[in-house]
Amino acid sequence: STFQDLGLQDNLLQAITDLGFETPSEVQKKAIPILLDEETDLVALAQTGTGKTAAFGFPMLQKINVDSRTTQGLILSPTRELCLQIANELKLYGKYCKGLNVTAIYGGASITEQAKQVKRGAQIIVATPGRMKDMISRRMVDISKIEYSVLDEADEMLNMGFYEDITSILSHTPNDKSTWLFSATMPKEVATIAKEFMYNPKEITV
Ligand code: AMP
Repeated sequence: STFQDLGLQDNLLQAITDLGFETPSEVQKKAIPILLDEETDLVALAQTGTGKTAAFGFPMLQKINVDSRTTQGLILSPTRELCLQIANELKLYGKYCKGLNVTAIYGGASITEQAKQVKRGAQIIVATPGRMKDMISRRMVDISKIEYSVLDEADEMLNMGFYEDITSILSHTPNDKSTWLFSATMPKEVATIAKEFMYNPKEITV
């Protein structure tokens, strides 16, 4: 199948052409139609390097409203490097989404600068759990209108001890959002998170 077959809109297809992506990867073929078609939770077992950023990124970009400045998408990721990488990829994928604002939030950099970025109207925030929790408690971000949340590399985040931060962050998001969990492995802790925070998730493995 092609990216067009998966149901992506022209502005995203144009970016895909610019990037030189010819065919969708396995995880993209499986995840994109599900995430575009319905408001559902998803558990995806996928390693890094499989194209999973695009697998959740394209559907999120297609579904958010870029005419609004409300934060609608939240992606939690274990490290600063991954946050920056995901944010940069989303900016490339969304280069023809006029008005799109993607902001990365992570520790070890100025929190006031990041708060300023958020205030400009980030529809999508890509964050490490520790800094995100900090900014919530300081009321520097509002995630009460989140519609799509992604737990990326969930096994890594839990290995790094982010369980409490993740549950605290999710408690500030609406119950009726969709949650998309990506993990290379499915240890007990990941299954627990899925059970606690997700409703009847679809499951895919690549
Ligand atoms: P990820 O697994 O999301 O870290 O993606 C790994 C790399 O593959 C990134 O550099 C992407 O830009 C690239 N990529 C993602 N999807 C495709 C695709 N369908 N065709 C070619 N490259 C891709």
